[in-house]
Amino acid sequence: MNQHPILRRCIACRKLVDRKQLWRVVRDFKDGVVLDIGMGRSAYLCQSQSCLKEAHRHKRLQKSLRCQVPVSIVEILQKRLSQPNDSGVEARLQMAQSILEPPSPNQLD
Ligand SMILES: [Zn+2]
Repeated sequence: MNQHPILRRCIACRKLVDRKQLWRVVRDFKDGVVLDIGMGRSAYLCQSQSCLKEAHRHKRLQKSLRCQVPVSIVEILQKRLSQPNDSGVEARLQMAQSILEPPSPNQLD
């Protein structure tokens, strides 16, 4: 795996960064503003406190996406910064659930 990184510009500090290291905020064509997934206009942001603050303070996400961005989006990103192990907890919960409810043989096909 020696591919060239896909560079995207952070909306806060304007640096070009490997897309994998950025948060992606998407104005999805049907679901509104979502994180990481979705189809539509995207804004990229460094995974850092300073860029998140900068983007929030100057409404960079709103300007870049040309729509209102719910506060919850910023709150989720803030949470990711303060609780970096959050996704690990979610993964463990999902594992516990799959043990409790094993998929039926039909679903494995
Ligand atoms: Zn940045």
